Amino acid sequence: MAQSPLQRIVAALKRRFPSVAEPGADRILMLCGSHAVLGMESNALRVLCRLGYGKETKNYTKMYRDARDAAMAELPKRARMMAEASLLLREHGKETCKTSAPRCEECPVTSACAWYRAHTRNQ
Ligand code: SF4
Repeated sequence: MAQSPLQRIVAALKRRFPSVAEPGADRILMLCGSHAVLGMESNALRVLCRLGYGKETKNYTKMYRDARDAAMAELPKRARMMAEASLLLREHGKETCKTSAPRCEECPVTSACAWYRAHTRNQ
């Protein structure tokens, strides 16, 4: 199957900078505004998975791609919007939706969160 322009650019970035993985390449493309792709670091990815856009698994690449693709399907196809979404998700993950102890009591999106529903069902 032929590669898309985005896939070719990511492959070229990976050749030029071998230590940059797919999430890093996505963030570079998103933040420089050249492509409408949702690049995320781990905090943003954790939030998306908890909201229900992917499943937290040990296979980081699969988890990343599933969450990225599901979220991108609902976002406007503009690099700036992707960058804003990524940065907001990152901040939310760093400040509120923490790895081991999310502060759901402070969270404004509990009604849309799969993780919250699953962990408060019997309380
Ligand atoms: S409700 Fe809790 S788990 Fe869900 S996004 Fe908010 S802080 Fe994270």
